[in-house]
Amino acid sequence: MRQGRRSRFKQVVINHLLQVKASLLLAALCMLGFTLAGLLAPWPLKIIFDYVLLDHRPPSSLSFLGDVLQRGKFPALALVSLAIVLIAVLKGVFSYAQLAITSRIGYQMVYALRRELFVHLQRLSLSFHHRARSGDLLIKVTGDTNTLKDVFVESALTVVGYLLTLFGMFAVMFALNWSLSLIVLATFPVLFSALSYLYRKIKASAKSQRRSEGRSASRISEILTAVSVVQAFGRERYEEERFETESGQTLEESIRTARMEASATRLVELITAVGTWAVILVGSLQVLKGRMTPGDILVFVSYQTNLYKPIRGLARLSARASKAMVSAERIAEILEMEPEIQDDAQAVHAPGLKGEIVFEHVSFDYGNGKSVLNDVSFTIAPGQQAALMGPSGVGKSTIANLLLRFYDPQEGRILIDGTDIRGYTLASLREQIAVVLQESVLFCTTIRENIAYGKLDATMEEIIAATQAANAHDFILALEHGYDTVIGERGDTLSGGQRQRIAIARALIRNAPILILDEPMRGLDVESEVAVREALKRLMAGKTCLLITHDLQAVTEADLVLLLDEGRIVERGGHSELMTRSGQYRQLYELKIGQSPARTISMEEA
Ligand code: ADP
Repeated sequence: MRQGRRSRFKQVVINHLLQVKASLLLAALCMLGFTLAGLLAPWPLKIIFDYVLLDHRPPSSLSFLGDVLQRGKFPALALVSLAIVLIAVLKGVFSYAQLAITSRIGYQMVYALRRELFVHLQRLSLSFHHRARSGDLLIKVTGDTNTLKDVFVESALTVVGYLLTLFGMFAVMFALNWSLSLIVLATFPVLFSALSYLYRKIKASAKSQRRSEGRSASRISEILTAVSVVQAFGRERYEEERFETESGQTLEESIRTARMEASATRLVELITAVGTWAVILVGSLQVLKGRMTPGDILVFVSYQTNLYKPIRGLARLSARASKAMVSAERIAEILEMEPEIQDDAQAVHAPGLKGEIVFEHVSFDYGNGKSVLNDVSFTIAPGQQAALMGPSGVGKSTIANLLLRFYDPQEGRILIDGTDIRGYTLASLREQIAVVLQESVLFCTTIRENIAYGKLDATMEEIIAATQAANAHDFILALEHGYDTVIGERGDTLSGGQRQRIAIARALIRNAPILILDEPMRGLDVESEVAVREALKRLMAGKTCLLITHDLQAVTEADLVLLLDEGRIVERGGHSELMTRSGQYRQLYELKIGQSPARTISMEEA
């Protein structure tokens, strides 16, 4: 299972690389061209030194040089030095082409990964989202995918390029002078062990850097969503200090990682210098003894300094790779997670439902061992309006969550039209339910799109019909841009009552047989209340409704009242039936009606 899940991340990467294999091949060829041009680079200099300046006889392979030299040294110098420019141009063209291709592949990969992460995050169950912090998830979707881009494509090819360069140069160096090559080779074990030590430390540091970046992002998103609370309590300074402490930690981690990266590079430089010193010393002695030409030592030293370049590059890349490994782990961690609520293998598409809701001995806790619902059973007949009431925290919203299958009960069953809801596919089940919550979430887009969220292919006529029924049409038209007005984030440009009426229109247009209303009138002023109450009545007509409310008027109008206490249903029946009993319901009702006879009465906390 674990293996199968982990491979989802690899699959995305491999699929992507397979898709772009032609471009990858082209990039690899460019890299090869760049490497070969790099190997050629010091040779014109040797030719100038040995055969032009020092008058050695050119070998037969350079016979054309002998011909040019006969016309004088200057044409020969001009010709060979032109080769230097030519090689540089070739290197530039190859390197540019490689970078352009790999960048494109890299960005396409970020896009693919982001899409996969986003799609997957949306599918993960609410229990995951309640535990996860949104800021950290944001960093995973944006930051971590970006880090991966560098390594998987750009760096992977660069590493191959560096390794090819290394082998090519060593081959030529050994052919030129094996004893000097051995000196260079001797510095390698020192270099690699030092680098691999740093590599491990950088990886650990990068991991905690990423973690604290995630924490900071979470705090920012949390504060920005609750900025009105921060300001109302005058806690700006307090939040500033908390933020400073947290970003201080991020800062320290980042500095530490950067310092280690810098020391890795400096270490390579230091060892390079020692190696160069030894080669120049021994090489010059050999030139003095006539075992090498000055041109040979020029090629040798030039190769040697260039040899350390790929090694330095590899060190830098290994630091980047260790960061990328951390990011890959963080992304794989999400992708390997399975949604807790899934379609059963035998689940069928829910047909047009009538809307009979049955809870059968349902017990539930949120996984923390604290029982929330305890053996709850009730039936709501199709088209019946049931009011669910009781003090806060007794599990009313939990019942709505279970009906929507955000969670599955540990014991008992929930049936709709006689079928266990686990027997329906999730999408088709939720398609049959419309929801209006206490503080309706509206999206930061036009009013028209917010309403059409309930039915994506709704026509303008349907939208207007829904807003008219929801008592929203007139106030929408009075807005400057009418239906095209963009609602501020979390609906800030509209009043609570207006937002509720848009949410009701959104539910209306869905025309689902089952309605869940979670305290839709709470916190509204009297005027809005009248408009919302009317809109709700039109919405609820003919639907099976589960209405969570403390509103006495709504409760008296309901077909069925379910009074919940400590996770159990303690009383049930119609309002008049419950009033004839001298139970908890009647006590609550009389208490409340006595307290505020004139206004709509709330039973909360009674
Ligand atoms: P009500 O709607 O009646 O106010 P809820 O159904 O929201 O009550 O909550 C019932 C109990 O379940 C409360 O004790 C609450 O703390 C707990 N609860 C609600 N949501 C979660 C959750 N996502 N994780 C853990 N506990 C929760």
